[in-house]
Amino acid sequence: MKMTEPCDKCRGTGEMLYGSTSTYMGGIGGAAMTTDVCNKCWGTGLKNKTGVNLKELRLEMNKSFQLQKRGLLKQITVLQNQLNNVKEV
Ligand SMILES: [Zn+2]
Repeated sequence: MKMTEPCDKCRGTGEMLYGSTSTYMGGIGGAAMTTDVCNKCWGTGLKNKTGVNLKELRLEMNKSFQLQKRGLLKQITVLQNQLNNVKEV
């Protein structure tokens, strides 16, 4: 097996034409045919060299976003409590 052998799923293009409205993430793609990054080689187009796993990257980003969101919501609650304690003049 050569290192430069093209990915057998996308035939070396690094892209896939998904034949449904769903994307590789399982979300709604919108168009009937959706071009997205090949979910086998992750865009490199090569059989033995995979790119960044976008699925994992997106999950990771989502996780840190959720943590940030939770922190902000906590701050809002604290500020709201402080506001409630302010007596109107
Ligand atoms: Zn591929």
